[in-house]
This record gives sequence, structure tokens and C-alpha cells, in this order.
Amino acid sequence: MSTKLLFTNACFEVAYSGPEHYPTQTKKITRHVEVTDGHVTALHEMIPLHQHDYTQIDVGHQLVLPTLKERHCHLDKSKLLTPWQPITPADSLVTRFTNEITELNQLEVSLVERAKALIELEMQHGVTFFRSHIDVHPAVGLSYLDQTLLALSEYKDKLAYELVAFPQHGMLRSQAFSFVDQALSHGATVIGGVDPYSLDQDVERSLAQTFELAIKHHVPIDIHVHDRGIAGKATVRELIRLTKEASWQGKVAISHAFGLNDFEQEEREYVFSELAKEKIQVISSVPIDGVIPPLMELQNAGVDVFLGCDNIYDSWSPFGDGDITEKLVRYCELFRQTSQIELTNALSRITDGYQITGSPFLQVGMDASFITTKASCAAEFVARKVPITTSVYRGNLVYSH
Ligand SMILES: [Zn+2]
Repeated sequence: MSTKLLFTNACFEVAYSGPEHYPTQTKKITRHVEVTDGHVTALHEMIPLHQHDYTQIDVGHQLVLPTLKERHCHLDKSKLLTPWQPITPADSLVTRFTNEITELNQLEVSLVERAKALIELEMQHGVTFFRSHIDVHPAVGLSYLDQTLLALSEYKDKLAYELVAFPQHGMLRSQAFSFVDQALSHGATVIGGVDPYSLDQDVERSLAQTFELAIKHHVPIDIHVHDRGIAGKATVRELIRLTKEASWQGKVAISHAFGLNDFEQEEREYVFSELAKEKIQVISSVPIDGVIPPLMELQNAGVDVFLGCDNIYDSWSPFGDGDITEKLVRYCELFRQTSQIELTNALSRITDGYQITGSPFLQVGMDASFITTKASCAAEFVARKVPITTSVYRGNLVYSH
């Protein structure tokens, strides 16, 4: 027996309105969204006559937007639900990640409970997709992965996720290869890494191992690259080279990518166009301390740019409120995305893409996944951080306020 729902009085943006060259609002239409077994099966202009066949949910003429995506977080690291602790002093990345294990082990709340707290925090802000890096290396084995999978098993109908097998202590440095290999047969579906140049001291061998496992398991790659200067540039060049060699187009992402700042003139233009050509994504947590890569320039070169919260109250950062729109606002401020059109298009950085095209973004055949908000338009939702009122994932109510 199939489940039929009818979300009545749902508003969709279909065109810009206002002065001809300077839109200030959007034109909206109302539709009644029929959902069968999690998919959109009709967008009715009038409430159907046989309406009693459906469970009806009145959206109350609120704006409907796509659900949000968290593309970079660490579900295994959060200290949510535990008493306040600022981060401890650390003079290097190595000290930080060595101390982290002891710090996490000392917490009185289990990883499962902390991960669930983070999932629920982000869900309240409209997120129904998580890409989370999970530490996988000899010091912790697959234990963080197992516990994260356990936490996620409670949200089967409410979200989608990708877990990145993340050898945080260095693929080579910590001899993580066999652990990452196992993790990819054990629930992780993306391979990660961190600073193969500076941490592993051998960018070629480190990335060769990463691609070897990616090809073996047929999974995408998402590498943390904080390295700047010669190290950062060499890493980016090698990633481009290996992506071509393995025909891994569309399956490689660089998180942080601070080193992209350091390419100059013709090489800068060439590298950015190669990133676009090889469909290598850049995922940023929008740092405000000057290291952020030139995200708008990258987009103008055709590179897909996405945002993630990254650290949310963990051993690396005492900050973070689990609201991905906070990162989007920061991105809009830093890159001066302030017009109606720019703010609307910015929503694509934290969704699967959003544009005003003349018809509702939600189409027949798509998953019935969306959020609702009292914002008058997507631009207001972004700029003013208007809260969501409901979040629906494949027809299931995830959150309602
Ligand atoms: Zn990270």
C-alpha cells in the first residue's frame, strides 16, 4: 500500500520581479504537491477532488526551497552535550590530532550520542545530507566509523549521508592504507586525506595510494589541503594529473584548498581552468582569517564550489553553531554577493543547485525533499537567515517548528 501525501498551499519562486535591471523580489505561484512513496507525483494547481485519498499537510503559503547539504563535517569529533571546554594549546597539527584522541576518550558522553546531537542540530537548520569525514587510522582503527554508522542508523528515513574514510594522521605517516581499505568495505563511501605534502612528506606516493584505493573501491576522493605555497600548489597539480590519469572527473574534491591563493598569472588561469575541466570541486568552510581561496574567481572559471561547517565545537574549534546558512552568509559577505540574483544563486553552494527558471524547482519524479520558510524569497532566506519552519526528506517530516 503506497503512502500518498498532499502538501497544500506551497509557494514556489518562478521569476524575478521589480525594476527591469534590478530585481528586488520574486514572483511566486502556489501549488499543491502530491507525494507518493517519497517522490513528487504531481504539482496540482487546484486541490484534487479526491483529496481524501491523501494525508494533507498545509504549508500555509510559505516559500518552499530545496533541503540543505552539509558537505564537510566531522560527526566523530563533536563535544556537543559535554561541559564547556575551550581548545587546548597545540603548537602543530600533529600535537593537535595526537591530543585529540585522549580528549575524546575522556568525554563522558559517547560518540554515538554526540554525533546524534550534531546531526539533530544541523537538521533543525534544514540539512538532510551530510558528508562527514571519519578518522580511520591505526590509533582508532574503525571504531569511530562503527559508532558513527550506529548513530546514523537511527535516521534512515530522515537524511542521506556519505562517510569519508579520513586518515587524519597521514596516509603514509600513520600507515593507514589497510585501515582505509577496510573502511571502504565497511560503510565509508569516499576516501579522504590531509596535506599529503607536509604531513606525509611525499605528495606523490600519498596521493598514489589514495587513488589506488579510490579505483579499487570505485569511490570519490575528498582531501583536506591546508598547505600553502610550494606544498599546496604541488598537491593541486598532482591531484589534477591523477584525476586525468584515472579518468576520475567529477569524483575529486579539495576541501579548504588554501593553496589555490598562491597560483599567479598564467598558471593561476591554467590551474583554475583545469580544475573546471576535470570537474574537481572545491569545498570551503569559509574561514575569515585571510586563507580562504578565491571562491568567486574559481566559480567564474567554471569550478563547482560548495560549503561545509567543518569543526563544530570540537578539539579544533570552540566555535560553530551547526547552521550551514551561517557559512553561506559569511561567503556572501566576503564575496559581496548582495543583489537579489546573487543571493538567490548563492543557495546553490549549500544545495544541489537552485535557480529561478520559470517553473517550480520541485518537479514531478524528484524526491520530495524540501524545506519551508516564512522568508518572502530565497534571497531574504539567505541574507536574513530566516529560520526554516519544516524540513521534509523523501516525504518524511524531518523537522517542524
Ligand atoms: Zn575537516
